[in-house]
Amino acid sequence: MKGKSWKNLPEGGLILEAGNSVAFKTADWRTLTPEWSKDKCINCLKCHFMCPEGAIPVKGGKMQGIDLNFCKGCGICAAECPVKAITMKKECVNGKA
Ligand code: SF4
Ligand code: SF4
Repeated sequence: MKGKSWKNLPEGGLILEAGNSVAFKTADWRTLTPEWSKDKCINCLKCHFMCPEGAIPVKGGKMQGIDLNFCKGCGICAAECPVKAITMKKECVNGKA
């Protein structure tokens, strides 16, 4: 079987497609997970504006939950929520919380 020559490899350090940051999931080192209570939420959107990762989407003026692909578990949303609709829980590691 013939291997690839160095001439066939893409050049290092090049971004071949623009706008690719959404494909890079940045949440894999999170140790705490925010849990959202839709019933308690009053849709003040404070969490949406305070989240440093933009991980709390809003549609039609209402919070849509938390995007765990990008949430880093910093807990700012839970600390800022005026009605305690978000609580931080330990991530499950090897079946243990
Ligand atoms: S825990 Fe931090 S990163 Fe995750 S949704 Fe809340 S504010 Fe955003
Ligand atoms: S800060 Fe709390 S009450 Fe306000 S939108 Fe977020 S979860 Fe809902």
